[in-house]
Amino acid sequence: MGATVSENIIDVKSTLPAGVELVAVSKFQPVERLKEAYASGQRLFGESRVNELLEKAVQMPDDVRWHFIGHLQTNKVKQVVGKVALIESVDSQRLLELIDNLSERAGITTDVLMQVHVAAEETKFGWLPDELIRFFTEGRYKGLRATRIRGLMGMATNTDDERRINADFAEIVALRDRILAVATGLTDFDLLSMGMSDDYPLAIAHGANLVRIGSRIFGERR
Ligand SMILES: *Cc1c(COP(=O)(O)O)cnc(C)c1O
Repeated sequence: MGATVSENIIDVKSTLPAGVELVAVSKFQPVERLKEAYASGQRLFGESRVNELLEKAVQMPDDVRWHFIGHLQTNKVKQVVGKVALIESVDSQRLLELIDNLSERAGITTDVLMQVHVAAEETKFGWLPDELIRFFTEGRYKGLRATRIRGLMGMATNTDDERRINADFAEIVALRDRILAVATGLTDFDLLSMGMSDDYPLAIAHGANLVRIGSRIFGERR
């Protein structure tokens, strides 16, 4: 890891193949660090808390794009709709429907990813693979009026065991492929957000086209 945020961004970007976009995960980082990243060309940032995202958004230039990547409480949805380019962490039908209702009322379309839970940790949010398959098999996405489901977001188990990490990423990819096979009329389902600081090269090898990288860019979180 280099000494500065700029060096780290350049470093990480040099390892990304064409077509893979970097989400700089800036949660818990002071806005000065985000400005450093912006100065070296980074425009896409990921935040996991609504209040923090909104506070930072007003301090950053307008051409920054924000991805919401944390657990989104239903009482906060109204505050993020229209403020973010992508909600990566839709983990329930109730949340999805709320995003859809509020987006329709705001006269916009919101792009989202379904967060899938495959990792071993019990604390992680997300759809269980079977629940998600059922959602798509039953065509429950067809009633959405102001939301586009753009793909899946997932995390591998937090472990040094590369076989386990590879198995988790492979499971997410297989799930994506099953969804594409059963979900008729589903369009623009083309994003696969997998990979963090410690495992993103493996995620890319499995076909991730969004990687969410925090500590490798900004250092340890405060
Ligand atoms: C914090 C976080 C990341 C980034 O983690 P690092 O290990 O710091 O790269 C990625 N995705 C999600 C959902 C996160 O909450």
